[in-house]
Amino acid sequence: MTRTLFLAAIALLTACASGEPEHADCQGSFRIEPGFTEAQVFSIKAAGLRWNAFLGRDHFKVSEDEGMCPIYPATIASPEALTKQGMARSADYTPATGEIRIDAANMKSPDGPWFEAIVMHELGHSIDHEHVETGIMASTDKTLTLDFSDEDRAECRRVGICS
Ligand SMILES: [Zn+2]
Repeated sequence: MTRTLFLAAIALLTACASGEPEHADCQGSFRIEPGFTEAQVFSIKAAGLRWNAFLGRDHFKVSEDEGMCPIYPATIASPEALTKQGMARSADYTPATGEIRIDAANMKSPDGPWFEAIVMHELGHSIDHEHVETGIMASTDKTLTLDFSDEDRAECRRVGICS
């Protein structure tokens, strides 16, 4: 809770002080931090490539060597980390810093297609996508899909990235 408030405060201060966007601009450049399995690293890279295919351009650059914003393993399943639906959060994106945290131990499958879909979901937040009912940007794993839905496409148009 304290950390959440602290991050929110930083975001507000940044927005007020500089007039810049209240979120980090990762420009699609993400760095995979140590601690993931080989299969997970593969899926994280694949998540970026699948977004690029969807967007029709090379927006995401995800690598283990360099990148502006980190993707790292973390334990985030705690009472404060419950979603609005009351589910334990298994990954999140922090707008103020551009960090993506992955709690694979708190996922039904810690790698493979569902893991990849969750990484795609968080990458979507980094380009301002909000939640949709059904699709990659669904907020619950009941309606999360393994591939982009028409609703994801509509959301992509709404934020002005897809035509
Ligand atoms: Zn989300």
